[in-house]
Amino acid sequence: MPNSEDLKTFQGKIIAIDGPAGSGKSTTAKLLAQRLGFTYLDTGAMYRAVALAALRRKIPWSDGDVVAVLAAQVVIEFVPDATRGQLTLLDGEDVTEAIRSPEATAGSSAVAVHPGVRAEMVKRQKELGRHGNIVAEGRDTTSVVFPRADLKIYLAADIKTRAQRRYLEAVARGDKTTVEEQIRLLEARDKNDSERAVSPLTRVPDAVLVDTTGLTIEGQVEKIFALAFRAFASKP
Ligand code: C5P
Repeated sequence: MPNSEDLKTFQGKIIAIDGPAGSGKSTTAKLLAQRLGFTYLDTGAMYRAVALAALRRKIPWSDGDVVAVLAAQVVIEFVPDATRGQLTLLDGEDVTEAIRSPEATAGSSAVAVHPGVRAEMVKRQKELGRHGNIVAEGRDTTSVVFPRADLKIYLAADIKTRAQRRYLEAVARGDKTTVEEQIRLLEARDKNDSERAVSPLTRVPDAVLVDTTGLTIEGQVEKIFALAFRAFASKP
């Protein structure tokens, strides 16, 4: 655990972590935020919530104009929870599990291509990070949401490792799937996320590359904590 001197070094900082699905962003960002007493901002959960809201209203994910209007209307909140860490609320309803369904997952990268949807989400994300003390993760947190973040990380891992992680999560949720299917789903999402015209997933030049293949969760958090400590100690 960091001591009070360490925590002073981190005060007000923004840590932004981007990378493809399954690279370990969520778990790492969540634990790091917990350790620092920071807010954890899961930007992917916001796109997932918009996809779920559209699905429920039978609005096609491909209809950018209508989905953007919907994105501006929905209330998305993150609330701390003693047992489940952090809950995602959509218009007051707990959708933490619902946004992880295979359908909402596919929808998230479909709605995320629309500039109007992104503009609305980015506006909200910047607002949440206004005072710093935040660990944000997603696809564009290092490039668009927090271009002046105090520490930028790009997490990577090989496709087999990422698919294996997703497979284990899916099985734990009770979904029937295979590692091969997870590889196919990840490849499709990677393609969508890195080839879209607006804010594609890229590694910005000032992001530190951390490959999590073969690292444990504790190992990942430790590594990023050390990077942050080094960056902030030399740059008060
Ligand atoms: O990170 P997660 O897998 O929950 O994100 C779901 C989807 O939301 C991604 O596949 C991506 O299409 C989109 N996303 C995005 N920009 C972000 C975070 C997520 O486009 N900052």
